[in-house]
Amino acid sequence: MIDLPAFRNALLEHFDRTRRSLPWRSERTPYRVMVSEFMLQQTRVETVIPYYERWLRRFPGWGALAEAGEDEVLRAWVGLGYYRRARNLHSAARMVREEYGGRLPEDPEALRGLPGVGEYTAGAVASIAFGRAVPAVDGNVRRVLCRLFDLEAPTAGRLREEAAALVDPGRPGDFNEALMELGATVCTPGTPGCGVCPVREWCGARVAGTVGQRPARRPRREVRRVGYVVVVVVERSAGVGEPRGPARSPRAAGNPPSAVTLVRKRPATGLLAGMWEFPSLELADDGKPGHLGLAAAATRLLGDLGVHARPATPLHPVRHAFTHLRATYHPVICFPARPHPLPPPYAPPTPACATTPRGSRPATPVPHPTPLTIPPPVGDTAPDHPPSPTWIPLADLDDLALPAAQRKIAARLRTWLRDNPRQACG
Ligand code: SF4
Repeated sequence: MIDLPAFRNALLEHFDRTRRSLPWRSERTPYRVMVSEFMLQQTRVETVIPYYERWLRRFPGWGALAEAGEDEVLRAWVGLGYYRRARNLHSAARMVREEYGGRLPEDPEALRGLPGVGEYTAGAVASIAFGRAVPAVDGNVRRVLCRLFDLEAPTAGRLREEAAALVDPGRPGDFNEALMELGATVCTPGTPGCGVCPVREWCGARVAGTVGQRPARRPRREVRRVGYVVVVVVERSAGVGEPRGPARSPRAAGNPPSAVTLVRKRPATGLLAGMWEFPSLELADDGKPGHLGLAAAATRLLGDLGVHARPATPLHPVRHAFTHLRATYHPVICFPARPHPLPPPYAPPTPACATTPRGSRPATPVPHPTPLTIPPPVGDTAPDHPPSPTWIPLADLDDLALPAAQRKIAARLRTWLRDNPRQACG
């Protein structure tokens, strides 16, 4: 039987003495608490800190976030992964603005009605931001509770009941954070620091000698391996595709001044929804190119896209781990065919090194009447299938919400262009 007042005092005293200094603990507005809780889902504290600080500079409150476009929000999240969180937080901001007059609701049930807010997040926000005496059971708290009560594989409901009985009505937010912090820093999965644990005298697993078995390991989720061919269609003709605006910035360094490449936005649902990518095609379940071969697969994808280009050079593959998926991207540099067969909205001029159909060089480059079209401003929704690809100056790629693997592909492309200055003509 746990002596509740003594247990709470011991835990909170330890928390007050040892708590980590984290940016979201300095000023606890509901908005800041909510942002930190979204970012911390499945992501380590150290990783989140710089993103959190940048995010607050860019979107200091509900209004700024609700006003922002989806692309801008996703771009600010690039590198944190699990992009659905960014989309949900963005949608939640709009609901807060439109349905709650710009104020986050205090009630856990109302909070649960917001996109991306589950039982845990509702409890954490309600207790930390509004002082509601409700539990918040994340992975760390689950482990602590399983050990405290010597439970092998309890249901979520059972754990919520135990946590609800423990929570300190006087300082519920601090109490919940103290339990989380205990799990993160003392009651860790591998070798918990029972010797320095402030609640060891109430710990059932320590008494029973079952700490190492609590909680029981969950069966590993099956991970699928998938390969993708990625067509990196590049054109670096002189005189077109200059970076937009004040693009002579340091980020333009390393980009051939007039190179353009083909990108498209992913569908509004599914993996990496709403992000940008070099067009890709799934190859095989084992992550390898399969019987088609990379060049043939790239040719097929180019045909599907309606892009007249030829696969030229494979780049080094890029690997990326998603929760249930291990993806291997096989980028292939492709050169647009001649003359001017590219689809709208952009067709480049014939470069000086292009050949006529008979194989002789034209005397002068032929300027194309169609100006380069930058991807149009992106609305809040993308269709459920990938829209047509569009051209973008290489120097502007960093302005897009490109996921980590796509950024690596872009880096490989830039390196290749730098190392092969004469090989970018079709
Ligand atoms: S005594 Fe050990 S197992 Fe029990 S709660 Fe503390 S750290 Fe965890």
